[in-house]
Amino acid sequence: MSHPPCDVVCLASWNADLVSRVPRPLARGETLMASAFEVSPGGKGSNASVAAARQGARVAVLARIGADDFGRMALDLWQREGIDTAQVEVVEGERSGVAQIWVYDGGDNSIAVFAGAGAGLGPRHVEAAASTLAAARVVMAPCEVPIEATQAAFALARQHGVTTLLNPAPARPLPDALLALCDLLTPNEGELLALAGLGEDAPLETAAQALLARGAGAVMVTCGADGVRLFRPGQPALHEPGWSVDVIDTIGAGDTCTGALAAALARGLALPEAMRQANAAAALAVTGRGAIVAMPDRDGVSALLA
Ligand code: ADP
Repeated sequence: MSHPPCDVVCLASWNADLVSRVPRPLARGETLMASAFEVSPGGKGSNASVAAARQGARVAVLARIGADDFGRMALDLWQREGIDTAQVEVVEGERSGVAQIWVYDGGDNSIAVFAGAGAGLGPRHVEAAASTLAAARVVMAPCEVPIEATQAAFALARQHGVTTLLNPAPARPLPDALLALCDLLTPNEGELLALAGLGEDAPLETAAQALLARGAGAVMVTCGADGVRLFRPGQPALHEPGWSVDVIDTIGAGDTCTGALAAALARGLALPEAMRQANAAAALAVTGRGAIVAMPDRDGVSALLA
């Protein structure tokens, strides 16, 4: 079976977001009536894949989903976005990932994620997708997928000169062996400090340097309304200020930034220019509701940067 090569391959975590609006956090044993309920596509890997595809990259997802309604929802989304799903394993008898999200009056939320079939993504899936990975320009992953799978994929990418991009979200301890395989990390400020094992008052530069010292090739920190900052060994830090936009919600902002960055790198742009594009794409993403709906296409980003 032959497929055209993809620019970006993503180890794609997927979950359906089940979002209920309730006035306040539930007490143990309590039942509350929700005032609204929505089901929408989520998962950091899936979101970043869609963001990259909207920027014109040919994207393939490496994923594991259940043979259920939420799995079909993932396939529908990816196929609608022109994403190659040849490396998706659909597993009978397992559930697709879900995130149950409670949004409270005032906007705070609580989230419980069940990775479902996604928790079974492993080195054997990487082996099966070896030729797709080797032919890519960028391989990316969030920390929602099993680390053994990411490490195997990045090791293979490294052998073939493919750029590796890890979004270390949610933050969790990472082995130095994996960090040394990452050309680029894209944490937000909280994830950066947690990864570096530093307190919330530590300078971002100190934290980034700690990750560079452990083997990461570069660290692009997303700083919310303050934009993005890039740290590379032996080079001055770069700052791309945040765009002044009307924020509707910031769901998926980090995923959009990572996906747009991957697409720009796959087009051959240098890191500073790729980061400018990613910052613009993420700024546009916060001007609409939810993760996917508001993700811009390439014309949207070009218009903002013109
Ligand atoms: P995460 O969503 O992972 O916590 P951030 O909050 O840092 O990540 O947001 C990711 C990126 O989205 C930022 O680096 C920036 O480019 C863009 N962004 C987020 N919030 C805003 C905002 N209020 N105004 C402009 N851009 C924003």
